[in-house]
Order: sequence, then C-alpha cells, then structure tokens
Amino acid sequence: MFEPAIRLRHELHRYPELSGKEQGTARRLVQFFCAFQPDSIIEQLGGNGVAVVFRGKEPGPTLLLRAEMDGLPISETIQTTYCSSRTGVAHKCGHDGHMAILAAVGCHLAAKRPHEGTIVLLFQPAEESGMGANAVLRDAKFAAIKPHSVFALHNIPGLPLGELVLKKGTFACASRGMVVGLHGMSAHAAQPDTGRSPALAVSEIVQQLTRLPQGIAPAGENAFVTVVGATLGEKAFGIAPGRAEIWATLRSEHDATMAKMIRYSEQVVQASALAGKLNFSIDYEDIFSATVNSSTAVDLVRQAHGDNPLRIAEQPFRWSEDFGQFTARFPGALFGMGAGTKVADLHQPEYDFPDMLIPEAARLFMRLIGHCPAQFA
Ligand SMILES: [Zn+2]
Ligand SMILES: [Zn+2]
Repeated sequence: MFEPAIRLRHELHRYPELSGKEQGTARRLVQFFCAFQPDSIIEQLGGNGVAVVFRGKEPGPTLLLRAEMDGLPISETIQTTYCSSRTGVAHKCGHDGHMAILAAVGCHLAAKRPHEGTIVLLFQPAEESGMGANAVLRDAKFAAIKPHSVFALHNIPGLPLGELVLKKGTFACASRGMVVGLHGMSAHAAQPDTGRSPALAVSEIVQQLTRLPQGIAPAGENAFVTVVGATLGEKAFGIAPGRAEIWATLRSEHDATMAKMIRYSEQVVQASALAGKLNFSIDYEDIFSATVNSSTAVDLVRQAHGDNPLRIAEQPFRWSEDFGQFTARFPGALFGMGAGTKVADLHQPEYDFPDMLIPEAARLFMRLIGHCPAQFA
C-alpha cells in the first residue's frame, strides 16, 4: 500500500525545485491527492503551499502534520533511476521523502477516515530559506484551518533506520544570518590616512563576534556566532579599501538568548564603526525561531511509537527549522527519525532519502492520529 507514495517520492526527486519556486511540486501533489477525494485541498498557501484536509465522522479537534517542499542548490552525484533532472538542484534534505510520508498517510486516510476531528496534511514551501512557515501562517487562507496541535518530523542520517529522536523543550536551535555593511572612503595605498578604511573594524568585529562574552547565555546553553564570510576592498595594491561586508550566523537554543546576542552583536558593530569613523548597516536574513516542543505532544509521539527503539536527545539539534514558527503558536512537536547509519549527511551531494523510512514514519503518524485528538480539544 506504500507503492504510490514511494513512486511519488521518486517523481518529486526527479523534479526538485528551490525555495519559493515549488510550483511544479505543488501541482504534482494536488494531482496525487485528487484521486483520494479529500474534503478539500487549499492551494497557494503562503506561496506554493498545499493543505489537504480529511474530516472524520464526528466533529473534533484539528491535527496538522507538516512536510516541507523545497530542494537545495546542490548538484546530485548519485546514480538512480530517479536522478534529479535539473542541473544544480536536488532534494538533499529529504523533503521529497517527508512529502511522500504524508502522501502515504493521505492514502490511508482516504481508505479509513479518522473517527473524529480533522486531519490537515500541510505541504509547506520555502523551509530552507526560513521564509515558508511564516508566509503560510500569515496567509488569510490558513486562518480557516485552526489547528489544535501540530507535528512534523525530520529524517536524521547516521542513526538506525526508524529510530525515534525525541526531546521536550527546544528541539532545534534559533538562528539568523547577519549582514554587516561598513562604509568608509577609499584612498591611495600610499596615503591611507587620507581615507577611512574599514580594515581594523572588520578584524575587531570578527574577533568580538566569535568570542561572545560569558554570561550572554545560561550555563550549558549552546550559543555562538559563526562568521561565515567577509569581503574587504579588492586585490589592488594601490588602493586602501573604503568598503567591507561581514556575514555571520547567530545561533542559540532559546529565542531570549538570541535577543541578547543580537543586542551584543549590534553594539560591537556600532562601537567599531564609530571608532573607525565609518557608516554601517545591519540586515538579517534566514531568520529561524527556536523549535520548542510541548511536553504533551512529545508524550503522545512516544506513546504512538510504542516499544520501538527510541533516543531521548539531551541537547537540542544545532540546526534550525522553521517549524518553530508553528510550535510558537500551537502545541506540537518536531521529532527526528533515523535515516540509517550508511546514509550520507543532510545537504551532501550523495545524500538520498531512504524509501524504507516511508512506511515506518507513515505508520507512526497514523498511530498518532489515533491517539491524539482528545488531548488537544
Ligand atoms: Zn535542509
Ligand atoms: Zn530539511
């Protein structure tokens, strides 16, 4: 019974699309689900999002399951019958698999509706850019869904296939990309004193961002800045530079810590710019809140998993997930499922989602649907 979902995964894998450009993916999903006669299909949700709604026989709470739709700008290096047909774009985070899992749940729901309540299968665009969840939540069409609880999973290479990874509280970190622009004035390299070079400010900012002061985060919390790149002037030995840019990723386990890191980083930039008589700009991209799981939701996933192998994560994952936008508004949980120990890491060119995880994960979601509704009424 999982064959249609596996076939869908291969088709989605063959035609990957980047964040915000998932029109073809949306069309394929709608085509797939039309055959299963759901109660409604909401399209163009927050861009290319699709929500497929199945109602139970009796009224009751609404449970939302989410999968992401986007691929990545990575060239595929594996050989399969369903290789990416698009140069430089591929499903390297397993979002094709996550969509197929919800497709399998949809096949099951079509044959056997839940006794009560409503199940919404949400296919969310633009997860990798951190834009999609917010766009879906702000879309007026989402207001009609009114979920009582929200759940999503991410496959995790390196762990045994199907092993569940659970954590109460923060599951995935908050993060944001900071873009610092420094604007001085270029000069002849023989007379740098007549210009205003940002060179010193760049070196100060890079050092101070990298070494966050103690006490900015509670003891034991992961909170750090990664300087991911910088530009300063150009390879022209006669010119003292007048412009620079620094790119850094701020990362923390809690949104409150992130707020402190932002304040600190902005103060560092401001002080260094002032000392160098430079103008400056600060912009942010790829903004992710921490994904914080509700205890009740985590307990429900655990119950649904039964006696199968389970791992309780002691630390949150350092990566970020825009599902945090959902858990900030609705009780819910993001959990991990092992993708196998021999699978390449996420975002690597050799990575491929394992089809064998589709039945495992779909069955878990089906048991969750059986357990869940009344808890969140
Ligand atoms: Zn990813
Ligand atoms: Zn992902």
